[in-house]
Amino acid sequence: MNKTIAVIRGDGIGPEIVGETLGVLDAVAQKFGHTFTYKEAPMGGCAIDEFGVPLPDSSLETCLASDSVLLGAVGGPKWDAQPSANRPERGLLKLREAMGLYTNVRPARMFPDLSAACPLRSDIAARGIDFVVVRELIGGVYFGQHTTETVDGEQKAVDIMSYTEHEIRRVAHVAFQMARKRRKRVTSIDKANVLDTSRLWRKTVTAVAEEYPDVELLHMYVDNAAMQIVRDPSQFDVIVTENLFGDILSDEASQITGSIGMIPSSSMGEGARGMYEPIHGSAPDIAGQDKANPIGTVLAAAMMLRYSFDMAAEADAVEAAVDAVLKEGWRCGDIMQGGGKLVGCREMGRLIREHI
Ligand code: NAD
Repeated sequence: MNKTIAVIRGDGIGPEIVGETLGVLDAVAQKFGHTFTYKEAPMGGCAIDEFGVPLPDSSLETCLASDSVLLGAVGGPKWDAQPSANRPERGLLKLREAMGLYTNVRPARMFPDLSAACPLRSDIAARGIDFVVVRELIGGVYFGQHTTETVDGEQKAVDIMSYTEHEIRRVAHVAFQMARKRRKRVTSIDKANVLDTSRLWRKTVTAVAEEYPDVELLHMYVDNAAMQIVRDPSQFDVIVTENLFGDILSDEASQITGSIGMIPSSSMGEGARGMYEPIHGSAPDIAGQDKANPIGTVLAAAMMLRYSFDMAAEADAVEAAVDAVLKEGWRCGDIMQGGGKLVGCREMGRLIREHI
């Protein structure tokens, strides 16, 4: 297959982790007989320096014309004084909106060899953690009307949470399709005992489930879900939830697996094209020192192979290579434990390539 990938290296450690990830994709292309063409799309602080804006039109066009987008991270103290409309993160929001990315997918997967980094009790960790949070990304209270006014001599603030059926339906389809590629179980999370938006959410997800008779659907209240994620995360396969609940639960889910440097994420819209990135930022404190862990970005590329390009064997090969490197004891600084063998970003990339 031939695929064009827009590459946003970004700022801080972005160029280092993306560079190693492209090397891993090259190894996949060679092994499986594909051609990946990379098109550079400057975004973030580096684009402000070069073009005066965080997302130049040329980069946006490159992303819209590609089969998928791979992103390192953007931002850093150098650009903190930029007016809010011109901050590096604005580029990211503009790009998500322009690409119509209404779903964020974040896997919570614990590597058996990193179980010591799991903050949960060892008997809970031993049952394994391997689930995905599918979060609605451009609706709900974050995108509702926000007002603050003075009423009867005191300030009153209102944020409106609203959802339409089609906004719920499209993200539910993403969750069910993802479950079909996994263990075929969707847990839909809401607060239907209190909120009208949640009652509509539950009704709509239940209706969508009829199109997926092979996938089991469960409903759970968000307060219970927050407890269940730390009490027994092994019960989850695919979680689907609205924007605010997903924001909170996906952070909780990432934390229980260990290091921030290991976790990928994808944002999807209509069609197969997505944007894939690690969940961490640009880590300016370690930028340019060959200390960054590239695994979160490498696993984001594996998600791109699996979900955008339908290359399951290729994605399996990348994930297996990461597992093998960890099993051999190789560690970047952020996941270093006693007995581990410390390597930098470049060497970690080389080791993963070698295992592919
Ligand atoms: P951060 O995630 O960049 O760093 C937090 C801590 O984790 C730091 O100590 C860092 O060294 C460490 N860390 C992060 N990724 C690592 C990796 N791959 N390997 C090893 N260690 C790693 O968060 P921050 O410091 O709050 O933010 C720094 C900048 O990144 C800010 O400008 C912020 O706005 C931006 N940011 C960007 C994105 C994005 O591009 N999607 C996301 C979050 C933050």
